[in-house]
Amino acid sequence: MSSVNQLRVSLDHLHENFQEAYPGLTKQEAIEEANRCLYCYDAPCINACPTGINIPSFIKKIASGNLKGSAKAIMEANPIGASCARVCPTEELCEGACVLNHSTKPIRIGNLQRYATDWAIKNEQVLFEAGKRNGKTVAIVGGGPAGLAAARELARLGYEVTIFEAEEKAGGLNTYGIVSFRLPKEVSYWEVNQVKSLHVNIRTSTRVGQDISVDEIMNEHDMVLLAIGMSKVPDIGISGEELSGVYDAIEFVKETKTKPISNRLLGKRVAVIGAGNTAIDAATCSVRLGADNVKILYRRTMSEMTAYEFEYEFAKQDGVEFRWLTAPKRIIGDEEGNVKAIECIKMALGEQGEDGRCRPVPIEGSEFTLEVDAVIKAIGQSRYVELIEQFELEHMDGVVKIDPGTFQTSNKKVFACGDVIFGKGQGEAMVVSAAQQGKESAYAIHQVLSNPVSELA
Ligand SMILES: Cc1cc2nc3c(=O)[nH]c(=O)nc-3n(C[C@H](O)[C@H](O)[C@H](O)COP(=O)(O)OP(=O)(O)OC[C@H]3O[C@@H](n4cnc5c(N)ncnc54)[C@H](O)[C@@H]3O)c2cc1C
Ligand code: SF4
Repeated sequence: MSSVNQLRVSLDHLHENFQEAYPGLTKQEAIEEANRCLYCYDAPCINACPTGINIPSFIKKIASGNLKGSAKAIMEANPIGASCARVCPTEELCEGACVLNHSTKPIRIGNLQRYATDWAIKNEQVLFEAGKRNGKTVAIVGGGPAGLAAARELARLGYEVTIFEAEEKAGGLNTYGIVSFRLPKEVSYWEVNQVKSLHVNIRTSTRVGQDISVDEIMNEHDMVLLAIGMSKVPDIGISGEELSGVYDAIEFVKETKTKPISNRLLGKRVAVIGAGNTAIDAATCSVRLGADNVKILYRRTMSEMTAYEFEYEFAKQDGVEFRWLTAPKRIIGDEEGNVKAIECIKMALGEQGEDGRCRPVPIEGSEFTLEVDAVIKAIGQSRYVELIEQFELEHMDGVVKIDPGTFQTSNKKVFACGDVIFGKGQGEAMVVSAAQQGKESAYAIHQVLSNPVSELA
Protein backbone atom coordinates (compact mmCIF):
# COMPACT_ATOMS: atom_id res chain seq x y z
CA MET A 1 0.00 0.00 0.00
CA SER A 2 1.43 3.40 -0.94
CA SER A 3 1.81 5.90 1.87
CA VAL A 4 -0.77 8.10 0.13
CA ASN A 5 -3.40 5.56 1.14
CA GLN A 6 -2.20 5.68 4.71
CA LEU A 7 -2.46 9.47 4.84
CA ARG A 8 -5.45 10.97 6.57
CA VAL A 9 -8.03 12.33 4.19
CA SER A 10 -10.68 13.30 6.68
CA LEU A 11 -10.94 17.04 7.16
CA ASP A 12 -10.37 16.81 10.92
CA HIS A 13 -7.20 14.85 10.49
CA LEU A 14 -5.41 16.64 7.65
CA HIS A 15 -3.08 18.40 10.08
CA GLU A 16 -1.78 15.01 11.24
CA ASN A 17 -0.31 14.52 7.75
CA PHE A 18 2.05 17.37 8.53
CA GLN A 19 3.64 15.63 11.51
CA GLU A 20 7.21 14.55 10.85
CA ALA A 21 7.08 11.62 8.41
CA TYR A 22 9.97 9.66 9.92
CA PRO A 23 9.91 9.19 13.73
CA GLY A 24 13.69 8.88 14.20
CA LEU A 25 15.83 6.05 15.57
CA THR A 26 15.03 4.42 18.88
CA LYS A 27 17.81 4.20 21.47
CA GLN A 28 18.46 0.57 20.61
CA GLU A 29 18.50 1.23 16.86
CA ALA A 30 20.88 4.16 17.36
CA ILE A 31 23.31 2.13 19.45
CA GLU A 32 23.23 -0.80 17.03
CA GLU A 33 23.78 1.53 14.08
CA ALA A 34 26.59 3.38 15.88
CA ASN A 35 28.28 0.05 16.62
CA ARG A 36 28.31 -0.79 12.90
CA CYS A 37 30.65 2.17 12.24
CA LEU A 38 34.22 1.10 11.46
CA TYR A 39 35.62 4.43 12.79
CA CYS A 40 37.86 4.63 9.73
CA TYR A 41 41.17 6.42 10.03
CA ASP A 42 41.00 9.31 7.51
CA ALA A 43 37.27 8.65 7.15
CA PRO A 44 35.98 9.54 3.66
CA CYS A 45 32.58 10.60 5.09
CA ILE A 46 34.23 13.59 6.81
CA ASN A 47 35.52 14.92 3.48
CA ALA A 48 32.15 14.30 1.86
CA CYS A 49 30.36 16.48 4.42
CA PRO A 50 30.55 20.13 3.29
CA THR A 51 30.86 21.23 6.94
CA GLY A 52 33.49 18.57 7.74
CA ILE A 53 31.71 17.12 10.78
CA ASN A 54 33.93 14.58 12.53
CA ILE A 55 31.43 11.82 11.84
CA PRO A 56 33.24 8.82 13.40
CA SER A 57 33.80 10.87 16.54
CA PHE A 58 30.14 11.87 16.99
CA ILE A 59 29.03 8.32 16.23
CA LYS A 60 31.45 6.88 18.78
CA LYS A 61 30.01 9.25 21.40
CA ILE A 62 26.53 7.89 20.67
CA ALA A 63 27.82 4.34 21.13
CA SER A 64 29.32 5.29 24.51
CA GLY A 65 26.18 7.14 25.67
CA ASN A 66 27.74 10.64 25.55
CA LEU A 67 24.89 12.34 23.69
CA LYS A 68 25.79 15.87 24.72
CA GLY A 69 29.34 15.37 23.47
CA SER A 70 27.95 13.92 20.25
CA ALA A 71 25.56 16.83 19.66
CA LYS A 72 28.34 19.29 20.43
CA ALA A 73 30.71 17.66 17.93
CA ILE A 74 28.00 17.93 15.26
CA MET A 75 26.96 21.49 16.03
CA GLU A 76 30.56 22.69 16.43
CA ALA A 77 31.19 21.94 12.75
CA ASN A 78 27.67 22.68 11.57
CA PRO A 79 25.58 25.34 13.36
CA ILE A 80 22.57 24.05 11.39
CA GLY A 81 23.32 20.40 12.15
CA ALA A 82 19.90 19.49 13.54
CA SER A 83 18.13 20.59 10.35
CA CYS A 84 20.83 19.09 8.13
CA ALA A 85 20.30 15.72 9.83
CA ARG A 86 16.85 15.79 8.23
CA VAL A 87 17.33 17.50 4.88
CA CYS A 88 20.84 16.71 3.62
CA PRO A 89 20.97 14.55 0.49
CA THR A 90 23.09 12.11 2.51
CA GLU A 91 23.31 9.52 -0.26
CA GLU A 92 25.19 12.09 -2.33
CA LEU A 93 27.27 13.37 0.60
CA CYS A 94 28.43 11.61 3.78
CA GLU A 95 26.58 8.30 3.40
CA GLY A 96 27.55 8.10 -0.28
CA ALA A 97 31.21 8.08 0.81
CA CYS A 98 30.82 5.47 3.58
CA VAL A 99 33.18 2.52 2.96
CA LEU A 100 30.40 0.11 3.92
CA ASN A 101 28.73 0.89 0.57
CA HIS A 102 31.18 -1.65 -0.90
CA SER A 103 30.10 -4.50 1.39
CA THR A 104 26.74 -4.05 3.12
CA LYS A 105 24.91 -0.72 3.44
CA PRO A 106 26.20 2.65 4.56
CA ILE A 107 25.93 3.86 8.14
CA ARG A 108 22.76 5.94 8.54
CA ILE A 109 24.76 9.05 9.38
CA GLY A 110 21.87 11.50 8.93
CA ASN A 111 19.64 9.48 11.25
CA LEU A 112 22.37 9.20 13.89
CA GLN A 113 23.01 12.93 13.62
CA ARG A 114 19.31 13.46 14.17
CA TYR A 115 19.33 11.11 17.17
CA ALA A 116 22.07 13.13 18.91
CA THR A 117 20.70 16.58 18.03
CA ASP A 118 17.13 15.55 18.95
CA TRP A 119 18.49 14.63 22.37
CA ALA A 120 20.02 18.12 22.68
CA ILE A 121 16.74 19.75 21.60
CA LYS A 122 14.67 17.67 23.99
CA ASN A 123 17.04 18.37 26.86
CA GLU A 124 17.21 22.11 26.06
CA GLN A 125 20.96 22.11 25.77
CA VAL A 126 22.88 25.35 25.14
CA LEU A 127 26.05 24.18 23.51
CA PHE A 128 28.29 27.23 22.99
CA GLU A 129 29.34 30.49 24.60
CA ALA A 130 29.96 33.95 23.17
CA GLY A 131 33.57 35.12 22.96
CA LYS A 132 34.89 38.14 24.86
CA ARG A 133 33.63 41.27 23.07
CA ASN A 134 36.25 42.80 20.75
CA GLY A 135 34.42 46.10 20.17
CA LYS A 136 33.66 45.45 16.50
CA THR A 137 30.24 45.16 14.92
CA VAL A 138 28.88 43.08 12.05
CA ALA A 139 25.45 43.36 10.43
CA ILE A 140 24.04 40.24 8.83
CA VAL A 141 21.19 40.73 6.40
CA GLY A 142 19.09 37.54 6.40
CA GLY A 143 18.62 35.04 9.24
CA GLY A 144 18.53 31.80 7.23
CA PRO A 145 21.09 28.97 7.54
CA ALA A 146 23.89 31.06 5.99
CA GLY A 147 23.29 34.13 8.18
CA LEU A 148 22.83 32.10 11.36
CA ALA A 149 25.99 30.04 10.83
CA ALA A 150 28.00 33.22 10.24
CA ALA A 151 26.44 34.92 13.26
CA ARG A 152 27.32 32.05 15.55
CA GLU A 153 30.96 31.98 14.55
CA LEU A 154 31.31 35.78 14.70
CA ALA A 155 29.72 35.86 18.16
CA ARG A 156 32.13 33.20 19.36
CA LEU A 157 34.96 35.35 18.01
CA GLY A 158 33.73 38.29 20.11
CA TYR A 159 31.86 40.40 17.55
CA GLU A 160 28.69 42.30 18.33
CA VAL A 161 26.39 40.80 15.72
CA THR A 162 22.99 42.01 14.57
CA ILE A 163 20.90 39.92 12.20
CA PHE A 164 18.26 41.83 10.24
CA GLU A 165 15.50 39.42 9.24
CA ALA A 166 12.49 40.34 7.11
CA GLU A 167 10.21 37.60 8.43
CA GLU A 168 8.58 37.34 11.84
CA LYS A 169 10.87 34.43 12.73
CA ALA A 170 14.45 33.67 11.74
CA GLY A 171 15.57 30.38 10.19
CA GLY A 172 14.95 31.21 6.51
CA LEU A 173 13.71 28.36 4.36
CA ASN A 174 14.24 25.93 7.24
CA THR A 175 11.51 27.75 9.14
CA TYR A 176 9.22 28.65 6.25
CA GLY A 177 10.21 26.78 3.06
CA ILE A 178 10.95 23.11 3.72
CA VAL A 179 7.79 21.14 4.47
CA SER A 180 7.12 20.39 8.13
CA PHE A 181 6.81 16.64 7.62
CA ARG A 182 10.51 16.70 6.62
CA LEU A 183 11.63 19.58 8.85
CA PRO A 184 9.42 20.80 11.70
CA LYS A 185 9.95 24.48 12.38
CA GLU A 186 10.72 23.77 16.07
CA VAL A 187 14.03 22.25 14.96
CA SER A 188 14.87 25.45 13.12
CA TYR A 189 13.79 27.56 16.12
CA TRP A 190 16.17 25.59 18.36
CA GLU A 191 19.05 26.42 16.04
CA VAL A 192 18.00 30.07 16.03
CA ASN A 193 17.93 30.03 19.85
CA GLN A 194 21.43 28.55 19.99
CA VAL A 195 22.58 31.62 18.05
CA LYS A 196 20.51 34.02 20.19
CA SER A 197 22.06 32.54 23.35
CA LEU A 198 25.40 33.99 22.18
CA HIS A 199 23.89 37.49 22.55
CA VAL A 200 23.33 37.88 18.83
CA ASN A 201 20.65 40.52 18.33
CA ILE A 202 18.06 39.17 15.89
CA ARG A 203 15.87 41.98 14.62
CA THR A 204 12.96 40.14 13.02
CA SER A 205 10.19 41.76 10.91
CA THR A 206 12.87 44.13 9.63
CA ARG A 207 13.28 44.14 5.85
CA VAL A 208 16.50 45.86 4.85
CA GLY A 209 15.89 48.38 2.07
CA GLN A 210 12.37 48.95 3.36
CA ASP A 211 12.21 49.05 7.19
CA ILE A 212 15.81 50.13 7.53
CA SER A 213 17.97 51.67 4.82
CA VAL A 214 21.07 50.16 3.30
CA ASP A 215 22.97 53.36 4.21
CA GLU A 216 22.10 52.99 7.88
CA ILE A 217 23.28 49.38 7.92
CA MET A 218 26.49 50.29 6.10
CA ASN A 219 27.27 53.33 8.27
CA GLU A 220 26.59 51.71 11.62
CA HIS A 221 28.62 48.52 11.27
CA ASP A 222 32.23 47.65 10.66
CA MET A 223 31.29 44.95 8.19
CA VAL A 224 28.15 43.66 6.47
CA LEU A 225 27.26 40.13 5.39
CA LEU A 226 24.53 39.67 2.81
CA ALA A 227 22.72 36.33 3.32
CA ILE A 228 19.29 37.10 1.87
CA GLY A 229 18.83 33.90 -0.12
CA MET A 230 16.52 34.01 -3.11
CA SER A 231 13.05 35.43 -3.62
CA LYS A 232 9.68 34.14 -4.79
CA VAL A 233 8.95 31.82 -7.73
CA PRO A 234 9.04 33.77 -11.01
CA ASP A 235 6.11 33.84 -13.41
CA ILE A 236 6.11 31.16 -16.11
CA GLY A 237 5.00 33.67 -18.72
CA ILE A 238 1.85 31.90 -19.93
CA SER A 239 -1.75 33.08 -19.89
CA GLY A 240 -3.93 32.22 -16.90
CA GLU A 241 -1.33 32.75 -14.17
CA GLU A 242 -3.60 35.34 -12.56
CA LEU A 243 -6.43 32.83 -12.04
CA SER A 244 -7.62 31.79 -8.61
CA GLY A 245 -6.07 28.39 -7.84
CA VAL A 246 -2.62 29.27 -9.22
CA TYR A 247 0.00 29.32 -6.46
CA ASP A 248 3.66 30.20 -5.92
CA ALA A 249 5.11 26.95 -4.46
CA ILE A 250 7.15 28.72 -1.80
CA GLU A 251 4.17 30.76 -0.57
CA PHE A 252 2.07 27.61 -0.75
CA VAL A 253 4.41 25.62 1.53
CA LYS A 254 4.91 28.63 3.82
CA GLU A 255 1.18 28.76 4.43
CA THR A 256 1.21 25.15 5.68
CA LYS A 257 3.94 26.10 8.16
CA THR A 258 2.33 29.30 9.40
CA LYS A 259 -1.46 28.92 9.20
CA PRO A 260 -3.95 26.23 10.25
CA ILE A 261 -4.07 23.44 7.65
CA SER A 262 -6.84 24.23 5.17
CA ASN A 263 -9.08 21.87 3.23
CA ARG A 264 -9.08 23.80 -0.02
CA LEU A 265 -7.32 20.98 -1.95
CA LEU A 266 -9.41 18.16 -0.49
CA GLY A 267 -10.42 15.88 -3.38
CA LYS A 268 -8.85 18.24 -5.96
CA ARG A 269 -6.54 17.63 -8.95
CA VAL A 270 -3.26 19.49 -8.83
CA ALA A 271 -0.55 20.15 -11.44
CA VAL A 272 2.88 21.21 -10.16
CA ILE A 273 5.19 22.84 -12.72
CA GLY A 274 8.88 22.07 -12.23
CA ALA A 275 10.94 19.19 -10.80
CA GLY A 276 13.29 20.62 -8.18
CA ASN A 277 13.23 20.59 -4.35
CA THR A 278 10.44 23.11 -4.30
CA ALA A 279 8.25 21.19 -6.75
CA ILE A 280 8.56 18.00 -4.73
CA ASP A 281 7.72 19.78 -1.49
CA ALA A 282 4.69 21.46 -3.10
CA ALA A 283 3.51 18.15 -4.57
CA THR A 284 3.84 16.13 -1.37
CA CYS A 285 2.19 18.97 0.54
CA SER A 286 -0.74 18.85 -1.88
CA VAL A 287 -1.12 15.10 -1.31
CA ARG A 288 -1.15 15.71 2.45
CA LEU A 289 -3.75 18.43 2.04
CA GLY A 290 -6.02 15.72 0.66
CA ALA A 291 -5.63 16.31 -3.11
CA ASP A 292 -7.02 13.43 -5.12
CA ASN A 293 -4.41 13.51 -7.86
CA VAL A 294 -1.08 15.33 -8.04
CA LYS A 295 1.01 15.49 -11.19
CA ILE A 296 4.45 17.00 -11.60
CA LEU A 297 4.91 18.37 -15.11
CA TYR A 298 8.53 18.77 -16.22
CA ARG A 299 9.75 19.90 -19.63
CA ARG A 300 12.90 17.77 -19.51
CA THR A 301 13.43 14.14 -18.44
CA MET A 302 14.07 12.47 -15.12
CA SER A 303 17.85 12.64 -15.67
CA GLU A 304 17.79 16.45 -15.77
CA MET A 305 15.51 17.04 -12.78
CA THR A 306 17.21 18.90 -9.96
CA ALA A 307 15.32 17.23 -7.09
CA TYR A 308 17.40 14.79 -5.04
CA GLU A 309 16.88 11.07 -5.46
CA PHE A 310 15.46 10.73 -1.90
CA GLU A 311 12.90 13.43 -2.61
CA TYR A 312 11.86 11.78 -5.88
CA GLU A 313 11.36 8.46 -4.06
CA PHE A 314 9.44 10.24 -1.29
CA ALA A 315 7.10 11.86 -3.82
CA LYS A 316 6.51 8.57 -5.63
CA GLN A 317 5.67 6.90 -2.31
CA ASP A 318 3.12 9.65 -1.75
CA GLY A 319 1.53 8.72 -5.08
CA VAL A 320 2.71 11.81 -7.02
CA GLU A 321 2.69 11.20 -10.80
CA PHE A 322 5.51 12.47 -12.99
CA ARG A 323 4.91 13.62 -16.57
CA TRP A 324 8.30 14.10 -18.24
CA LEU A 325 8.88 16.15 -21.40
CA THR A 326 5.71 18.11 -20.73
CA ALA A 327 5.52 21.92 -20.67
CA PRO A 328 2.54 24.12 -19.78
CA LYS A 329 1.16 26.31 -22.59
CA ARG A 330 -1.71 28.08 -20.86
CA ILE A 331 -3.87 27.77 -17.79
CA ILE A 332 -7.58 27.70 -18.52
CA GLY A 333 -10.17 29.22 -16.17
CA ASP A 334 -13.93 28.92 -15.75
CA GLU A 335 -16.38 31.87 -15.86
CA GLU A 336 -15.67 32.63 -12.20
CA GLY A 337 -11.94 32.94 -12.71
CA ASN A 338 -10.99 29.59 -11.13
CA VAL A 339 -8.53 27.15 -12.68
CA LYS A 340 -10.28 24.35 -14.56
CA ALA A 341 -7.57 22.92 -16.85
CA ILE A 342 -4.05 23.29 -18.10
CA GLU A 343 -3.03 23.03 -21.74
CA CYS A 344 0.35 21.34 -22.19
CA ILE A 345 2.66 20.53 -25.05
CA LYS A 346 4.99 17.58 -25.47
CA MET A 347 8.70 18.35 -25.62
CA ALA A 348 11.78 16.67 -27.07
CA LEU A 349 15.36 17.22 -25.96
CA GLY A 350 17.41 19.24 -28.44
CA GLU A 351 21.00 20.46 -28.48
CA GLN A 352 23.04 21.16 -25.38
CA GLY A 353 22.70 24.67 -23.98
CA GLU A 354 25.39 26.83 -22.32
CA ASP A 355 24.63 25.20 -18.95
CA GLY A 356 25.50 21.78 -20.42
CA ARG A 357 21.86 20.57 -20.30
CA CYS A 358 19.90 19.62 -23.41
CA ARG A 359 17.35 22.23 -24.38
CA PRO A 360 13.71 21.13 -24.42
CA VAL A 361 12.02 21.81 -27.75
CA PRO A 362 8.21 21.77 -28.24
CA ILE A 363 6.80 19.14 -30.59
CA GLU A 364 4.43 20.99 -32.87
CA GLY A 365 0.84 19.77 -32.80
CA SER A 366 1.33 17.70 -29.62
CA GLU A 367 -0.86 19.92 -27.40
CA PHE A 368 -3.18 18.22 -24.93
CA THR A 369 -5.30 19.34 -21.98
CA LEU A 370 -5.36 18.10 -18.41
CA GLU A 371 -8.33 18.91 -16.22
CA VAL A 372 -7.02 20.32 -12.94
CA ASP A 373 -8.32 22.45 -10.08
CA ALA A 374 -5.02 23.99 -9.02
CA VAL A 375 -1.66 24.80 -10.56
CA ILE A 376 1.45 25.28 -8.43
CA LYS A 377 4.41 27.09 -9.98
CA ALA A 378 7.76 25.70 -8.85
CA ILE A 379 10.19 26.71 -11.55
CA GLY A 380 12.96 28.03 -9.30
CA GLN A 381 13.34 31.29 -7.41
CA SER A 382 13.85 34.86 -8.54
CA ARG A 383 16.44 37.21 -7.01
CA TYR A 384 16.47 40.30 -4.83
CA VAL A 385 18.09 42.34 -7.57
CA GLU A 386 16.80 45.67 -6.25
CA LEU A 387 18.40 45.21 -2.84
CA ILE A 388 21.65 43.94 -4.35
CA GLU A 389 21.73 47.08 -6.47
CA GLN A 390 21.01 49.29 -3.46
CA PHE A 391 24.21 47.82 -2.01
CA GLU A 392 25.83 48.63 -5.40
CA LEU A 393 27.25 45.11 -5.69
CA GLU A 394 28.36 43.50 -8.93
CA HIS A 395 26.06 40.64 -9.83
CA MET A 396 24.99 38.41 -12.72
CA ASP A 397 21.18 38.43 -12.97
CA GLY A 398 20.95 38.68 -9.18
CA VAL A 399 23.73 36.19 -8.39
CA VAL A 400 26.15 38.27 -6.29
CA LYS A 401 29.74 38.07 -7.49
CA ILE A 402 32.26 37.18 -4.79
CA ASP A 403 35.89 36.32 -4.47
CA PRO A 404 35.47 32.55 -3.93
CA GLY A 405 38.35 32.45 -1.45
CA THR A 406 37.01 35.20 0.81
CA PHE A 407 33.28 35.68 0.02
CA GLN A 408 34.06 39.37 -0.39
CA THR A 409 31.88 41.19 -2.92
CA SER A 410 32.80 44.06 -5.24
CA ASN A 411 32.36 46.31 -2.17
CA LYS A 412 35.12 45.30 0.24
CA LYS A 413 32.93 46.10 3.24
CA VAL A 414 30.26 43.63 2.12
CA PHE A 415 30.54 39.83 2.11
CA ALA A 416 27.90 37.48 0.72
CA CYS A 417 27.07 33.79 1.19
CA GLY A 418 24.32 31.19 0.84
CA ASP A 419 21.70 31.15 -1.91
CA VAL A 420 22.38 34.79 -2.82
CA ILE A 421 25.66 33.65 -4.41
CA PHE A 422 24.24 30.43 -5.84
CA GLY A 423 23.90 30.12 -9.62
CA LYS A 424 25.85 30.80 -12.81
CA GLY A 425 28.05 27.82 -11.97
CA GLN A 426 28.75 29.18 -8.47
CA GLY A 427 27.91 27.38 -5.20
CA GLU A 428 25.12 24.99 -4.36
CA ALA A 429 21.62 25.58 -3.00
CA MET A 430 21.76 23.28 0.01
CA VAL A 431 21.31 23.97 3.70
CA VAL A 432 24.64 22.34 4.51
CA SER A 433 26.58 24.42 1.97
CA ALA A 434 24.85 27.62 3.16
CA ALA A 435 25.98 26.73 6.71
CA GLN A 436 29.56 26.11 5.60
CA GLN A 437 29.68 29.32 3.56
CA GLY A 438 28.33 31.20 6.59
CA LYS A 439 31.20 29.84 8.70
CA GLU A 440 33.79 30.63 6.07
CA SER A 441 32.46 34.17 5.56
CA ALA A 442 32.68 34.74 9.32
CA TYR A 443 36.33 33.67 9.35
CA ALA A 444 37.05 35.85 6.30
CA ILE A 445 35.42 38.88 7.99
CA HIS A 446 37.45 38.15 11.13
CA GLN A 447 40.60 37.94 9.06
CA VAL A 448 39.99 41.41 7.61
CA LEU A 449 38.79 43.06 10.83
CA SER A 450 41.53 41.64 13.00
CA ASN A 451 44.24 42.69 10.56
CA PRO A 452 45.15 46.36 11.06
CA VAL A 453 46.41 46.68 7.48
CA SER A 454 43.17 45.28 6.19
CA GLU A 455 42.03 45.04 2.61
CA LEU A 456 39.63 47.88 3.40
CA ALA A 457 42.47 50.35 3.62
C1 LIG B 1 10.93 24.19 -0.93
C2 LIG B 1 12.40 24.02 -0.72
C3 LIG B 1 12.89 22.79 -0.29
C4 LIG B 1 14.26 22.64 -0.08
N1 LIG B 1 14.70 21.42 0.35
C5 LIG B 1 16.03 21.27 0.64
C6 LIG B 1 16.52 20.03 1.14
O1 LIG B 1 15.79 19.06 1.28
N2 LIG B 1 17.84 19.94 1.44
C7 LIG B 1 18.70 21.01 1.30
O2 LIG B 1 19.89 20.89 1.63
N3 LIG B 1 18.26 22.18 0.81
C8 LIG B 1 16.95 22.35 0.47
N4 LIG B 1 16.51 23.54 -0.03
C9 LIG B 1 17.49 24.62 -0.24
C10 LIG B 1 17.83 25.33 1.07
O3 LIG B 1 16.65 25.59 1.78
C11 LIG B 1 18.59 26.63 0.79
O4 LIG B 1 19.72 26.35 -0.01
C12 LIG B 1 19.05 27.31 2.09
O5 LIG B 1 17.94 27.61 2.91
C13 LIG B 1 19.81 28.62 1.77
O6 LIG B 1 20.08 29.33 2.95
P1 LIG B 1 20.23 30.92 2.93
O7 LIG B 1 20.47 31.30 4.34
O8 LIG B 1 21.20 31.33 1.91
O9 LIG B 1 18.82 31.47 2.42
P2 LIG B 1 17.36 31.42 3.05
O10 LIG B 1 17.11 30.16 3.78
O11 LIG B 1 16.45 31.77 1.94
O12 LIG B 1 17.37 32.61 4.11
C14 LIG B 1 17.46 33.95 3.70
C15 LIG B 1 16.82 34.83 4.75
O13 LIG B 1 16.98 36.20 4.39
C16 LIG B 1 15.79 36.91 4.68
N5 LIG B 1 15.75 38.13 3.85
C17 LIG B 1 15.56 38.23 2.51
N6 LIG B 1 15.56 39.53 2.14
C18 LIG B 1 15.75 40.26 3.25
C19 LIG B 1 15.84 41.66 3.51
N7 LIG B 1 15.73 42.57 2.54
N8 LIG B 1 16.03 42.06 4.79
C20 LIG B 1 16.15 41.15 5.81
N9 LIG B 1 16.06 39.83 5.60
C21 LIG B 1 15.88 39.38 4.35
C22 LIG B 1 14.71 35.91 4.34
O14 LIG B 1 13.48 36.23 4.98
C23 LIG B 1 15.31 34.61 4.87
O15 LIG B 1 14.99 34.39 6.22
C24 LIG B 1 15.15 23.72 -0.29
C25 LIG B 1 14.66 24.95 -0.74
C26 LIG B 1 13.31 25.09 -0.96
C27 LIG B 1 12.79 26.41 -1.46
S1 SF4 C 1 25.72 17.71 7.80
FE1 SF4 C 1 24.75 16.55 6.16
S2 SF4 C 1 26.47 15.85 4.88
FE2 SF4 C 1 27.33 16.49 6.85
S3 SF4 C 1 27.42 14.58 8.06
FE3 SF4 C 1 25.48 15.59 8.55
S4 SF4 C 1 23.94 14.69 7.18
FE4 SF4 C 1 26.00 14.20 6.35
